[in-house]
Amino acid sequence: MKLSELGEFAFIDRITPGCQAADPSRVLRGIGDDAAVIEAGGDLLLVTTDMLIEQVHFLRGTISFRQLGYKSLAVNLSDIAAMGGVPHEAFISIAIPPTVSVEELDQLYDGMKALARDAGVNVLGGDTTGSKVDLCINIAVTGSVPRGEVLYRTGALVGDRILVSGTLGDSAGGLVVLLERPDLPDEVAQALLQAHYLPQLYLTEARILATSGAAHAAIDLSDGLASDLRHICRGSGVGAVVDVPSLPLSAPLRQLCAATGHDLLRLALGGGEDYRLLATVDPGRVAELRSTVAERTGRTLFDIGEIVTGDAIRLRHADGTCAPLELSGFDHFTTRSPAAPEEGP
Ligand code: ADP
Ligand code: MG
Repeated sequence: MKLSELGEFAFIDRITPGCQAADPSRVLRGIGDDAAVIEAGGDLLLVTTDMLIEQVHFLRGTISFRQLGYKSLAVNLSDIAAMGGVPHEAFISIAIPPTVSVEELDQLYDGMKALARDAGVNVLGGDTTGSKVDLCINIAVTGSVPRGEVLYRTGALVGDRILVSGTLGDSAGGLVVLLERPDLPDEVAQALLQAHYLPQLYLTEARILATSGAAHAAIDLSDGLASDLRHICRGSGVGAVVDVPSLPLSAPLRQLCAATGHDLLRLALGGGEDYRLLATVDPGRVAELRSTVAERTGRTLFDIGEIVTGDAIRLRHADGTCAPLELSGFDHFTTRSPAAPEEGP
């Protein structure tokens, strides 16, 4: 059977049985969330890993090594944030082809170390090997979260509001800029490329949500809202209604779509690598959480919809009509690649 007949997520489901054959007493969550959750005596231990492969996740020559260093660590820190945790340690494994210079590797590490410093993360190890052609970067990150504050994908409750920590689709817009070179004002193109290369992190927001007790589930948006909200709905046994007029869409993304004819909603809901935090929260606590986040970070939590009964995800349009969300997010084996760098690790 070909992997393309199965898809990325069915593949993970297929290999999951038998993975936990040893003593289960340390394992609170294994395969199936943004990070594994492990008993460690005091606070719970979080562990996550993500890989970036040349020609799949990035094209050398279109992203700087410094940006690549930042991004490969950022996508891992994002998974720790998605559990409500604080990141601590990172382990960096790289497979280096002969075409990559030592100076370029210095820049890769400069990008990684700058972010690690900002995020309070120590780099404690890794592995280095050669590669024939492509540069591969795999990073594992540990974190911790106080018992009782961990945010799983499985905790969403009917009636919860759905919050996201930033605009949607900008990274996918950056990919369009990169691949199609549309004629856009420079600041518009740069804003979208920036979102693609240097995703923001929401570590403070994650802790505000986790400590509040008001957040019931969380995930980071690596494959696109359509796919990632579905993970929460499937995991929690609920459905969702997404209010289209409430979706946070940036001015640069709107300009890109106006100039190129790309579908705004398709990019916002199906585009990967935004790395925004998505959480479902007690409806009575939304205003308080939004003002705490605004005060402490100067940023906005956007309220984009509601968790409902059933298992469907529906879009509610401005005129009140509802339609099923049919878009899916990125899948490494079933999504047709534009022969270019692709979506979330
Ligand atoms: P994320 O997008 O948050 O990084 P993924 O969709 O990559 O999450 O992975 C979903 C879950 O499957 C995670 O728990 C991850 O650790 C697990 N997983 C992914 N690939 C493998 C694999 N090859 N073997 C075992 N577990 C895997
Ligand atoms: Mg994730």
